[in-house]
Amino acid sequence: MKGQIRTVRGDIDPGELGATDAHEHLLIRNDLILVKTPAFRLDSVECAEREAADFKKYGGGAIVDAAPIGIGRDPDGLLRVSQTADVHVIAATGFHKSSYYLDSHWRHYYSVDEIAKLFADEVELGMEQTGYAGPLTRRSQARAGVIKAASDYQSICASDRKGFEAAALCHQMTGAPILTHSEIGTMALDQVRLLQSLGVRPEHVVVSHVDRNPDPYIHRELASTGAFLEYDGAGRVKYFPESVMIELIRKLFECDLGGQILLGGDMARRSYWKAYGGGPGIAYLMERFLPRLRNDGFCERQIQMLYCGNAARAFQFRLD
Ligand SMILES: [Zn+2]
Repeated sequence: MKGQIRTVRGDIDPGELGATDAHEHLLIRNDLILVKTPAFRLDSVECAEREAADFKKYGGGAIVDAAPIGIGRDPDGLLRVSQTADVHVIAATGFHKSSYYLDSHWRHYYSVDEIAKLFADEVELGMEQTGYAGPLTRRSQARAGVIKAASDYQSICASDRKGFEAAALCHQMTGAPILTHSEIGTMALDQVRLLQSLGVRPEHVVVSHVDRNPDPYIHRELASTGAFLEYDGAGRVKYFPESVMIELIRKLFECDLGGQILLGGDMARRSYWKAYGGGPGIAYLMERFLPRLRNDGFCERQIQMLYCGNAARAFQFRLD
């Protein structure tokens, strides 16, 4: 028996997920992150609906919105986008890296147990509209389906470690999978080992942005643990040409680890969206990258794994 996948519209069978963008940003509407980086502002529900509808038009089925508590997340907005565009949306509780939060944020003075309970309530009861910015608690009917944890470049600081501990505890309480942010792909294996030491099996962990450190040796090590590797360099050639990602995928398939790869867009800038007048747009993974994989020699079975099968496994809730 399989675990369910929790979307903002409700729980679904993994087979219903469809082609999945495993790391995306549909709405970033407020919070410190926009003071630091105004280019991250994605505050229009209408624009998000247009991008999600475009993704659907090219065959997309599901989008994982990777904005957790305190990162401008908008639970009711995500629900609207999901309903209007008829795309599954998996939303996140948890924390991003600590440098995105003020020193006064409650993450710095609540205990791990208290934080884990707040995360778990977002998974089980509904996401708090303001990310517990308080003092009142107003829950959306949309529940979180994934727990975010994050670390910064080349180290896991004490504050971020606390986020991992709370994420692990929330996973024990709810069974929700964990999706991490790795900074430029660093600390990926350390994150998986830390979560393992906290009782989380790697098959319930997705490590994001690992292609930013396109080292096949590290990717093989990471995939061998059973964790999922999320690649989101497609269409963002300022980091590296897509051929780098293609070769990483090819190498993992060669050692029979292609079942651990997820694809995402991570189009967290206005300039990346067609709806804001830029590009390549959230549909890019379906519209351009999928045909490229085909032309570059990947078979339909592999493409099905990369877009559908792997995500259906990665985002299931733990059953035992
Ligand atoms: Zn992201």
